[in-house]
Order: sequence, then C-alpha cells, then structure tokens
Amino acid sequence: MAAPTAPTAATSRRTPGTSAGIDASAAPADASAALAAPADGFADFAALRRQDPEIAEVVLAEAARQADTVQLIAAENFTSPAVLAALASPLANKYAEGYPGARHHSGCEPADAAERIARERATALFGADHANVQPHSGSAAVLAAYAALLRPGDTVLAMAPAHGGHLTHGSPANFSGRWFDFAGYGVDPVTGLLDYERIRALARERRPRAIVCGSICYPRHPDYAAFREIADETGAHLIVDAAHPLGLIAGGAAPSPVPYADLVCATTHKVLRGPRGGMLLTGRDLAERVDRAVFPLTQGGAQMHTVAAKAVAFGEAATPAFAAYAHQVVANARVLAAALAAEGFAVVTGGTDTHLIAADPAPLGTDGRTARSLLAAAGLVVDVCPLPSGAGRGIRLGTAAVTTQGMGEREMATIAALCGRAVRDGGREPGARTPRVRDQARDLAGRFPPGPG
Ligand SMILES: *Cc1c(COP(=O)(O)O)cnc(C)c1O
Repeated sequence: MAAPTAPTAATSRRTPGTSAGIDASAAPADASAALAAPADGFADFAALRRQDPEIAEVVLAEAARQADTVQLIAAENFTSPAVLAALASPLANKYAEGYPGARHHSGCEPADAAERIARERATALFGADHANVQPHSGSAAVLAAYAALLRPGDTVLAMAPAHGGHLTHGSPANFSGRWFDFAGYGVDPVTGLLDYERIRALARERRPRAIVCGSICYPRHPDYAAFREIADETGAHLIVDAAHPLGLIAGGAAPSPVPYADLVCATTHKVLRGPRGGMLLTGRDLAERVDRAVFPLTQGGAQMHTVAAKAVAFGEAATPAFAAYAHQVVANARVLAAALAAEGFAVVTGGTDTHLIAADPAPLGTDGRTARSLLAAAGLVVDVCPLPSGAGRGIRLGTAAVTTQGMGEREMATIAALCGRAVRDGGREPGARTPRVRDQARDLAGRFPPGPG
C-alpha cells in the first residue's frame, strides 16, 4: 500500500463540515477519477490533511516509518486495503449493543448482517460451534473468557508472565492478577520447552478452576491434548489463548486448539492479518455464557466497523492464498531462526514451529534491551522477551508482517545477517558500522512496500 499522497482529484460532492460545495464543473471529466474519490461517510485522507494537518502529518510519519524499516514485531502485520476500507466505513457510526436480532437500538439491520456473516465465517474457518466476534481486543476476549467461567478469587493455572505468559495471565499489574489467584507454570530452563509433568503436578496441587494455555513468545506448538488431559484429570476448564497462532491455525500451518479447549480466545490482528480486535470460539454448551460475558458483562456497544473488517479478514483467511501465506510465515521463521543461530544468537528451543523466534543475544556480548536498541538504530524493529533461564531478557522476532510484504527465505537470510552485524558491531564499538546496516535495512524495506505484496 502506497503512502497516501496529497489530494489530487477534485470531487463533485459536498465537502463534509462545510457549506460550500465544490463546483461540479471543476471536477475532472474522467469518470474513473470521480469513482476513485471517497464517497460520503468513507475514509478521505485528503479531508484529514485539509482539516487537521497536524494529525495528518503524524499518520504520514507512521506510513513513512513502516515503509522505511523492517517490521519484525511478532504481534504485528499489514491488513489488506479491503480490511481498512471496512474499518473506515459508515459502520463506524452505528451503535449496536446486543447481538443480531436482539439489539438495544433501532436501525441495526446492516450491522446485524455484518455480525452474522463474521460469526458464520469464523465458525466455518475454525470448525467451532460458536464464535463471538465482539471483543474489542485480545485482552477483552481473555477478560470475557474469565468472566464466563470464573468467579473472583478462583485459582487459575497459566504460564507465568515472567516466563512468557501474557499480562492477562496473572500479572499483578493486570486485572487478572488482582482478581484471581494465579499459579504460574514456566518452561524448562534448559530446553525452553513446556514440561507437562510439572504442569500436571502443579494442577494436582493447586486444583485450579481453569487452566490457561497460551504465550507471547513460546515458539513451539503447545500439546493441546496434554493440556486437555490435565484439565480433565483435575476438574479444570481449559482456556486456550491463541492470540498469536490463530492466523497459522486458520491457514492450516499450526494445530487447532478448538477440539480440545472449552474456550479459545484470540486476537484478529496478529498472524491472522485482520483489524485490531479480539474473538472467542466455543462449543454450544458455553455459547450463551460467553455471549453474556462479552455483552453486557464486560463491554458495551460492539464496534461494528471492526466486526465487518473481521468478517473481511475471515473471508481472506479461508482462501488458498492465505494458506500459502501461513505456511510461508513458518518457513520464513525457520530460515530466520537457523540463520540467527549461525550469527551466534542462542535461539530458544533451537528453532521454531511458528511465526516467532525468541533468541538470547548474550553470546554476542549484549543483553536483550541493548540488542533491541541497536537493532532499532539499524531499522530492524523487534521486541524484548523473557528467557527460559529467567535471567535477563532476549529478543523476539516474528515473520508475519515481512511475509505479508512478500519477503521470502532469501530475505530472511539477509535480515539475520543484518541483525548479527547490528548487534555484534554495535555491541563492540557503538554505532561504528550501524549506519551501513541501516542503509541495507532501508533498501530491503524499500523493495517490499508495507502491505500485502
Ligand atoms: C496479544 C495477546 C493478547 C492481547 O491482545 P491485545 O489486543 O493487545 O489486548 C492476549 N494474550 C496473548 C497470548 C497475546 O499474545
């Protein structure tokens, strides 16, 4: 997607917010230019530039940043123009508390249609009985999952945030840690892998009401059957927080938790490549409880433009092209992991099965936070993440966004080489060779414009 440019085509329609219409005789005779002009109620970047140049500049700066650097944040992606069009549409103006056919407002027929289509596409895509597509975010989906199954004070078993659990998995800074009694499991400090016998022992000891399976940096597929067995054995609900892998699951590039979990919560904006938002998948038995847990228990009116954009994303995710993308995301991550290891990074679990890689830069003489800064200065945008040892931090990289841009295995090798040079040379002699790496990163990003390639 190209960065928006200055307004060019004059339009024959009234400019919103002004009384002065544009003279129709000034409109270009070219009908396609007239068609290309945004219709009333749809996004019009030229209008933003005219009305609020200050914010328009901020938006353009973000577009330039995305075009100029390599996006390796594992939770990010580039949505399609179709998803963006649904977001910036008149559905943004509609209040629609409730569910299709049972709203608290009038005039919800198109909104109902959007939500029905989104739900139907989601249940078909993931083979689930029921989908709730209203959560405003991944965290809102987790909150609703807890609200559906738990009471305040209940014991919950989840991956400890210090080992890669999300904030909503019991962090004391989050509602989860405040309102529930979380017991945290980790990964083996040496292998970096989940130790199911230890999780089983902890579940037997603590008897949680729910077990949460999900992480922000675990690079392997969880054994959902093992989690189900442990949950059954200890009388716990199984909640799978598939915020990260949901897109891989949709594309058939990762196993599905749907047959095992009582409830799956997820985001729609990570590997799935939809709008920012959350969703829940469940069986018929919990459908009503889940719906009530979203509205009215934890949310008000659904964001119907986002619901429509989720429907668009589910439609895209059902195509062979998306399955090819999802498999390429994993192939790219495997190549990137191996190449980073060859550069000297200690890759957690020795590789990846997913879109993400966790790596310790310690063998290159630096820590995760410093590495993130050195990489940022070189135009390589990554996160820090916990390490299995619990000592220090590593870096987390993901391949979803760069794969969406059209990068392949050759570019992954280039990225690993640039990461190695930025961290090694920057670490030894601050800034010495970083400018050259920066140029190469800019060149790489420039060859793959931000957006679906
Ligand atoms: C990203 C993520 C979330 C939260 O998503 P937000 O949309 O940022 O609220 C929850 N759980 C896991 C495991 C995640 O990775």
